[in-house]
Amino acid sequence: MTRSLVDGIRERAYVLFWEARGLTTPSAGLRARTRWLQKSQHWPRARLDDLRDRKLRALVSHAWNTIPRYRRLMEAHGVRPEDIRTHVDLPRLPVLTKDELREHGSELRATGVTEIEENVTGGTTGAPTRVARDVAGATWQRASYWRGFSWGGLELGHAWVQLFGGSLGVGAARRFNRVKNWVAGKTFLPAFELGPDNVGRYVEAIERSGARHLVGYTSACYLLASLVERAGLRLKLDAVFPTAEVLPPQWAEVMTRVFGARVLPYYGCGEVQSLGYSCPEADEPTYHTSDEHVILEVESREGAASFEGEGAFLVTDLDNRAMPLIRYRNGDAGLLAGQGCSCGRTLGRILRIDGRVNDVLLTVRGDAVSGAIGPHAFRLTRGVEAFQIVQRRPGQVTLRIVTGQGFDASAEEAMLRKVFDEHLGPEAMVDFEYVDRVQKTAAGKARFVINEFLGGAPPSPR
Ligand SMILES: [Zn+2]
Repeated sequence: MTRSLVDGIRERAYVLFWEARGLTTPSAGLRARTRWLQKSQHWPRARLDDLRDRKLRALVSHAWNTIPRYRRLMEAHGVRPEDIRTHVDLPRLPVLTKDELREHGSELRATGVTEIEENVTGGTTGAPTRVARDVAGATWQRASYWRGFSWGGLELGHAWVQLFGGSLGVGAARRFNRVKNWVAGKTFLPAFELGPDNVGRYVEAIERSGARHLVGYTSACYLLASLVERAGLRLKLDAVFPTAEVLPPQWAEVMTRVFGARVLPYYGCGEVQSLGYSCPEADEPTYHTSDEHVILEVESREGAASFEGEGAFLVTDLDNRAMPLIRYRNGDAGLLAGQGCSCGRTLGRILRIDGRVNDVLLTVRGDAVSGAIGPHAFRLTRGVEAFQIVQRRPGQVTLRIVTGQGFDASAEEAMLRKVFDEHLGPEAMVDFEYVDRVQKTAAGKARFVINEFLGGAPPSPR
């Protein structure tokens, strides 16, 4: 049998498996749920709001009734479940902080809910955060994921490639994972082992898989594109879905050029994974929020919250009954807008993600400036492969740069100095450091800003 015939049978069997699963366990019906979401994305906005308000009321009552610690938090805030009628009432509820979740996570689990999985995140600055999920909540999350990918043509069962952390490894567990991945059409390639010496093997593996879609760390997808180009290789894809890191526009351009693919970043965090997916039709980079499943708010410096505008994100997962996360401050910030996209979807929009709010820079006077200044400044440069901004005291930055072809140090340094002077103040100190590679975090993510003055954890030398 030819490979494409085998793959066709595999895909069909995998889809049938999920259809059958939905019949025996409706709460796990991933296919039905995804089909449903394909319709609800076009609902009149009032109907969508109705759905999320109903879910919100049920979630708040559930948290009140099954989690004594959550009830105490609400009482301390002078709010009872009946005070929350619609999403507009959300700001009456307390904000759930990372510290609260990390230190008291076990007390934030609901009683009487069958948990199916636990997700462990973070750990670079202390104990890791653990989030439990139940079957129905996980299905909503995954269905939102597959709907988002479908906007770029990737459907459940299709062959696809993942470029994330971890290694290929050996042993029985790995072999089992390989079989499971094969059935799902998924080819996993380790992001951090990719380099100039083995890029050819990565390209071969992707071509052998028949995949037309790549999902992975933003920095890894970009690295693959630039290595493919430099080695004079060819790898054509339909769409790339980069995630977990801010996407500088020049990286998107390289991926588009090399892969001939659409670049559709998506957004989530370890605790609430399906937050936003790129609209393929919007003129400006736009993520549509998974409004049937989550509510995003932005928090201003004064502590007020709203559903549009700029600020730190507060995330409510409407479907996690095992461990309700309500108004969770996930550490990211950005710009939210309501519905109004040219594609006709009535879902809300994220127009910008600034990355971790902790990754800020301080001006000479001590004011905070978003770390998004990094991608903003470096988009004006030429011949920069990678960069990282390290701040050791207010008004000072060290720009670590990995140079590529056509880099003109004196011109670029003058330009970058000018941009940072503008943002950090006229007495700003800007130093340059030329390096072979920039360090990543312990979790393997690229970091554009490391604020050592504010206590940013030094990254592992990976
Ligand atoms: Zn749209």
